[in-house]
Amino acid sequence: MDEAASVCDRKVRSAPASIIRYMRFDIITIFPGFFAGIFEHGIVRRAMKEGLVTVETHDLREHTHDRHRTVDDRPFGGGEGMVLKAEPLAEAMEALGIKQREQGTGNREQGTRVILLSAQGRQFTQAIARELSGLEKVVLVCGRYEGVDERINELYCDEELSIGDYVLSGGEPAAAVVVDATMRLIPGVLGNEASGKFESFGAADAEIDVDLNGVPRSQHGAGGLLDYPQYTRPAEFRGSNVPEVLLNGDHAEIRRWRREQQLRKTLKNRPELLERAELSAEDRRTLEALRGALGQARK
Ligand code: SAM
Repeated sequence: MDEAASVCDRKVRSAPASIIRYMRFDIITIFPGFFAGIFEHGIVRRAMKEGLVTVETHDLREHTHDRHRTVDDRPFGGGEGMVLKAEPLAEAMEALGIKQREQGTGNREQGTRVILLSAQGRQFTQAIARELSGLEKVVLVCGRYEGVDERINELYCDEELSIGDYVLSGGEPAAAVVVDATMRLIPGVLGNEASGKFESFGAADAEIDVDLNGVPRSQHGAGGLLDYPQYTRPAEFRGSNVPEVLLNGDHAEIRRWRREQQLRKTLKNRPELLERAELSAEDRRTLEALRGALGQARK
């Protein structure tokens, strides 16, 4: 038995069966070399080594049948640039066992999702990463040039995902983002299961209650907010000191401070997140005070 398999076995034996899941990503691309090295670091590498995640790239040119291995052609109707042709993409999908969707219904085997990376897609978020991390297999189709023949989207893809409101030159960086953000949420991938839940954009349904000191416990879960700032040694760096509250060992006080920082940062950088965030009564009072202070500062 090789080392990776035995590590995986140990993990399977030591963890409750309900949390052991394996996930596979298949990436269709004209630049498989783009991914060499990208998944060879940190958590992704460990997850792959432990057999929790498999990432396979598939060269679209392997599914061409002409001397020049042509994957693109001019757009019907004229216009700039080239478009990725339907035939090689369809063949690449079918080689992965992805069948054409029946009209309106879809015939995807359970646990599989086919995603076209596209600037025109629904915006990829932590909530979508969480949703994908519950699947067995995700197929990612990387466009290039002016994009992909739309019939591939219609006939084979379950959805289009965009990683943000900007245009990349290809879907490959977007595919890497989707794999990274998704696979770290698979049970067993992060060393500490809690950390996936309790960082920026943590589940909006994160448990919100108040401890005996009236401190919202949700500071342990971002609850739809941005995370609080972190500091490590040294306590003084180039004249800038770590906030005193983090050094005094008063955990209730630290929790209160961190929650306030989450609210402050979210209000400053991403105020729209506050509309959907789970907020306790204490959070709302803190926000009012922060908004008041902000209003004063503007006067
Ligand atoms: N003509 C397209 C448009 O304006 O929407 C842009 C094509 S872009 C130059 C080439 C490929 O990069 C796309 O087919 C898609 O796969 C990928 N891409 C570009 N921007 C992206 C984004 N924000 N998110 C995900 N994929 C993106």
